[in-house]
Formats: sequence, structure tokens, C-alpha cells
Amino acid sequence: MVVEHFLEIVGINKSFGSVQVLKTCSMTVAAKETVVVIGPSGSGKSTLLRSINLLEPVDSGDIFFAGENITRERKKAHLLRQQIGMVFQNFELFAHLSAVENVMLAPMKILGVSSADAHDIAVDLLRKVQIPEKADAFPDELSGGQQQRVAIARALAMRPKLMLYDEPTSALDPEMIREVLDVMAELSAEGMTSIVVTHEMGFARRAADRIVFMEQGEIIESASSDQFFGGTVNDRARRFLDQIL
Ligand code: ADP
Ligand code: MG
Repeated sequence: MVVEHFLEIVGINKSFGSVQVLKTCSMTVAAKETVVVIGPSGSGKSTLLRSINLLEPVDSGDIFFAGENITRERKKAHLLRQQIGMVFQNFELFAHLSAVENVMLAPMKILGVSSADAHDIAVDLLRKVQIPEKADAFPDELSGGQQQRVAIARALAMRPKLMLYDEPTSALDPEMIREVLDVMAELSAEGMTSIVVTHEMGFARRAADRIVFMEQGEIIESASSDQFFGGTVNDRARRFLDQIL
């Protein structure tokens, strides 16, 4: 391989029972790139992200991360996941821990960072996601947008090389979507390699280098942001966009 992609997915297949959810999906992500994945519900977007994170074993095909074939590295899965931050639709914060404690936990437990150092890291990250004043608040005292920003800070605390976001704003009230997308867009602009499943096309336009369109388990289109928003879009992707916009 001459060009070493940061992430390279080569012909992955995945079935649940008799249903094939990923059909020979291939895509590459370069370092510092932000790729937005769109597509109808059930098209396999979450399964694609979960495969990259080795939360879901694929049936065939290969996934290369930083030049290494990780596809069948089940034993190394935890090491890999430390390098990949994941943010979910429903935040999934630890309810019994404050915001700062949520962010401190993984560095302490997994990296063995001291409590004092973890606290410093967490305070910095809460500042980065624009909620330093909420450090001692518990999740049920935070708005959805604030909780999601704590979740992003928590993922960043492990210093990931790749961030995966699975519909990070779809559970949020409209007025909170922007504050979360702003944080994500800033991280992307700083060069955080990211794959974002979202239908927020304003974010895609602003932050994405590339747009991937999935339908029924297939990657139908992978276009540069310029191509995509310049109008040279596959018909099926266009029809989908017409529905969501
Ligand atoms: P999307 O995120 O695009 O909505 P998903 O990746 O969640 O799509 O799901 C793709 C398909 O796989 C759907 O038909 C869904 O019902 C099915 N699926 C997802 N996870 C599982 C699972 N753990 N067991 C069985 N079927 C699943
Ligand atoms: Mg999904």
C-alpha cells in the first residue's frame, strides 16, 4: 500500500440472521478528515460505526486502522477502543457521577492517571466544550445539550485518534443542537479525524470533507463535500436529501 489511509474499510459484510445489514462496504478516511454519513433509518449506519469500533464483529472484509489490520483483533479490541472515542444519541453518562467525574473516570481507571491530574484534564475539557461551570453538576441537572457536551469531553479524555458520533443531536431539543454541533465542528477544524452519522446538513456543509450516503446496507455514494453540495449527487441520495431537507 503506497498511500496509507488512516482508516480503510475494505468490502465488509455483516448479517444479523438472514438479514444482510452491511453489503461489501468500502470507504477510506484520511487523517484529519471529517466524514459525514447519511442515509435512511435501518440502512446500516450504526452497524458501520460499531464495526469500526469492533463492538460488532464483521462476517468478512477488512478494517485497517493506522495501517494495521484490526478486523480480527478481538484480543486487542480494548486497546483499539481506547484510541477511538464514541458519542451516542442518548449521551450514556454515568448518572451517579458529576460531569467532572464522568470525564475523569477513564483516564484514572484505564490509563492510571492520578486523581489530581485527571481532574485537571477534565476541567480543561469541560472548558473546551464550553461548560466549565457545570463541573460539579450531575447528569440529571444538565440539559440534553450539556450532557452531550460532557459525553464529548469524556470521549476526548482518552486522547482518541478518531471520533465516532452516532446521531449525536437527534435526541436534543432544537435549541440545543447548535451548541453540540459547534463543539464538534471546532474539533474537526482542529484536525480531529471524525466520522459523524447525522442528518444535520448544515453541519455537513460546514465541517465535512466528505459525505457518504448509505442505503439498505450499501455505500451508494462517497463524494467530496464540494461535489455533494455542488449538485453532482447520485439520484438516490438526492431523493433522500429532498425528504430530509
Ligand atoms: P441505522 O443506524 O442506519 O438506522 P442500523 O445499523 O442500526 O441502521 O441497523 C441496520 C439494520 O440492522 C436494521 O434492519 C436493524 O434492524 C438491524 N440490526 C441492527 N442491530 C441489530 C442486532 N443487534 N440484531 C439484529 N438486527 C440488528
Ligand atoms: Mg443508527
